[in-house]
Amino acid sequence: MSTSAREFLHTPGPTHIPDRVLNAMHRQAYDLSDPRFLDLALSCFEDLKGVFRTQGEVFLYASNGHGGWEAALSNLFEPGDCVLLPDVGHFSRSWGGHARAFGLEVLSPEGDRRRALDPQVVEDALRRDEAGRIKAVLAVQTDTATGITSDIPAVRAAIDAAGHPALLVVDVIASLAAAPFAMDDWGVDVAIGASQKALMGPPGLAAVAVNRRAAELAATRAGHRYYWDWRIRSEREMYRRFCGTAPEHALFGLREALDILAEEGLDAVIARHARLAGAVQATVAAWESAGALAFNALEPAERSVSVTTVLTPEGVDGQAFRDSVRDQHWVALGGGLGAMEGSAFRIGHLGSLNAPMVLGCLATVETALIRQSIPHGHGGLRAAVEHLAATDV
Ligand SMILES: *Cc1c(COP(=O)(O)O)cnc(C)c1O
Repeated sequence: MSTSAREFLHTPGPTHIPDRVLNAMHRQAYDLSDPRFLDLALSCFEDLKGVFRTQGEVFLYASNGHGGWEAALSNLFEPGDCVLLPDVGHFSRSWGGHARAFGLEVLSPEGDRRRALDPQVVEDALRRDEAGRIKAVLAVQTDTATGITSDIPAVRAAIDAAGHPALLVVDVIASLAAAPFAMDDWGVDVAIGASQKALMGPPGLAAVAVNRRAAELAATRAGHRYYWDWRIRSEREMYRRFCGTAPEHALFGLREALDILAEEGLDAVIARHARLAGAVQATVAAWESAGALAFNALEPAERSVSVTTVLTPEGVDGQAFRDSVRDQHWVALGGGLGAMEGSAFRIGHLGSLNAPMVLGCLATVETALIRQSIPHGHGGLRAAVEHLAATDV
């Protein structure tokens, strides 16, 4: 096996980092007062608003997505507060654990891991909350474990139908700049993203978008926080905005990634994700026809444009399969998470990708299926190619 050829990274985060982004980080740091850095950082905050489609504020943290969760939890809530966090998979579960560790009471009605969030569950829970104890609904747009995207406008509609004042806080970590999202138009109060997914950056930056309503509410909350505090981070001075030295290189990378997004255009980026996801899912549908491998997402319309979770049959260890594809074929996939550990693998198809990269990944997975005699329907690759041929670039 050539060790100089490119490795294929097809996990749903981290994702392939474009060479332009890598190169943008290969440089000296600025001194903290350099106006060039101030301009660069301010332009990142400004352009991220466009990605979230919000007029609200965006805060950036030198942290991963979990830090973004913590930023939202610590600013909006105090111990003893109650939140509604419908359980749609591994990531909503982890977020719930995080919230409980903050002393929050988390209502997490159990969902079906093979279906999207049911907005009726939200409406019913809010209607039962006559005392108005629920401070917020916390929803995950795309659960990266299940490969399912939920309908966020329908969650907003459920809150409104119940006439409940709860905030809507959405984890868009796996979906921002991949699936459609419009924070202001959809009535989302807080949204949380991270750099290493469709934003095409290195791991280590969380972006949290906050509308005026959420910011005003946060200002009245006495919860213990300092590093995460939106009030301090609203100041212009970068040392305050980042509560210390800014993660300059992460911002150099982000600046380049935002330029790349702007050059392609956000709508085109979203259309590209739909097209490539269609190719992956056409292949998986062909594999599934042999009755062994299966989509986790039962409803085609709920399948994510970022990641496809494939369930493996009895006797096929999804984790071992994932490892073999990486170790023998140089394609890195995701394994099954949570309850699906060992019984699934996940193909990430978000971020800096084009059709040849996706075809390379699918062909390699198919090669491994054949080598390991894992039953699968024929014509998987052909289905992907036909999907691509039938759709506009
Ligand atoms: C990746 C991911 C997270 C966690 O992000 P980290 O950067 O690993 O902390 C949270 N939620 C979703 C939906 C994700 O895809």
